[in-house]
Amino acid sequence: MTTTTTDILGSCNCGQHTLSIPSSAFASATPALCHCTNCRKSAGSLFSMILIIPASAYTLISAEGTKPKEYVDSGCDSGKSIVRTFCEGCGCPIRSWGEGAEEVTYVRAGLFAPGQLPKPVIELYTKNFESWWKPLEGASGFAGMIGVKPE
Ligand SMILES: [Zn+2]
Ligand SMILES: [Zn+2]
Repeated sequence: MTTTTTDILGSCNCGQHTLSIPSSAFASATPALCHCTNCRKSAGSLFSMILIIPASAYTLISAEGTKPKEYVDSGCDSGKSIVRTFCEGCGCPIRSWGEGAEEVTYVRAGLFAPGQLPKPVIELYTKNFESWWKPLEGASGFAGMIGVKPE
């Protein structure tokens, strides 16, 4: 596994796991915010920001003998299970994917250093907005998963 200068690297807090994404794939990722209740809990915040990319577009570099812990999140509002991975060393979410649909991966945007993240173009589960949250300007809002527009 080699990285080049055009790869963009993101890592967890303890550094056990690093995701390497070629800058071209990084630039063509679909950036999204998800406000579903499970993302809220997983992020410990109001939403998760994810970069949606083909699973073939990233390389995971882990410290020897380690790999991210997997949690099958079967209680999702969408009715589909999401496999969430996180670092066992520091608890940082790494990436997730829909169970049985691993060809598309949702990389946690917070792994990457500030100043390089694209603005989200999709905002999911707008029905869960807190009363003081403003929809992100320029992003397509969906009440639930993609395809479910707000009423
Ligand atoms: Zn870690
Ligand atoms: Zn979510």
